[in-house]
Amino acid sequence: MKSLVVLALALLLQAPAPVKFDSSNAWEHLRQLVALGPRPAGSPAIEQSRRYIREQLSRAGVAVTEQAWDDQTPTGTVKMVNISATIPGASKDRLVIAGHYDTKLIREFRFVGANDGGSSAAFLIELARVLKARRNPLTIELLFLDGEEAVIEWQGTDHTYGSRHYVNTARRDGSLASLKAMVLVDMIADRDLRIKKDSNSTGWLTEAVWQAAKRQNLSDYFSDERTQIEDDHLPFLQAAVPSVDIIDLEYPAWHTAKDTMDAVSARSMQVVGDTLIAALPDIEAHLRSASRR
Ligand SMILES: [Zn+2]
Repeated sequence: MKSLVVLALALLLQAPAPVKFDSSNAWEHLRQLVALGPRPAGSPAIEQSRRYIREQLSRAGVAVTEQAWDDQTPTGTVKMVNISATIPGASKDRLVIAGHYDTKLIREFRFVGANDGGSSAAFLIELARVLKARRNPLTIELLFLDGEEAVIEWQGTDHTYGSRHYVNTARRDGSLASLKAMVLVDMIADRDLRIKKDSNSTGWLTEAVWQAAKRQNLSDYFSDERTQIEDDHLPFLQAAVPSVDIIDLEYPAWHTAKDTMDAVSARSMQVVGDTLIAALPDIEAHLRSASRR
């Protein structure tokens, strides 16, 4: 009997405990990014933020590639860079989990984008550490998008530069075929987090996330109320990639000088991290059954 207990203990100790999303890590990444100041596309500070993101991903043992290009904006040519962190899975089919890391260029005041631009980037860095330790049926690509924000105003093509460039490139080089779904996070650290269902997002993918929130008793944060969001998921949807946007756009500090560390909370990032990780098995099962049909 005693030896059985010892054996059971030994087995328990051997089994790797599932790595949990730790919002204290995400919070530290957010603090570091915000400390760099305003990080609009093409700025020296966004280059510094890229260095930080790359360093942290390398530390997590995740392979990083950069996609750089010059884009035309209403104020001229801007150098932009998307960053991909790829975690190989059993299948080469990919699930992209994306968020933007640029902050809106605002000349009138100092805009550091703790929630808008900071939270998604910090979240993805911590997610890399968690997913690296997980056995993934699909390859997961964590995609840090540049140029989400309008240089002047959100109209025409003055927005979502990074996602449009990524999808256009993937169409041309054929890599779009292995891209099976996309999950977008944006503005997920609002202290008063309440995420509505985006009607542009793919139905089954939205349900997978909202059901996972329900199972985690996090329905207070994931509302059944509907809204309609234009964001980096639209180019993917236009390319027939199932996509969902997890965003809380009802944020009083949105595009104001108040979008600082005081307006955000680690708890909100924890809620989204726990929900997304709980939703992954359902998303993966759905994609695998779709690929068998
Ligand atoms: Zn914004």
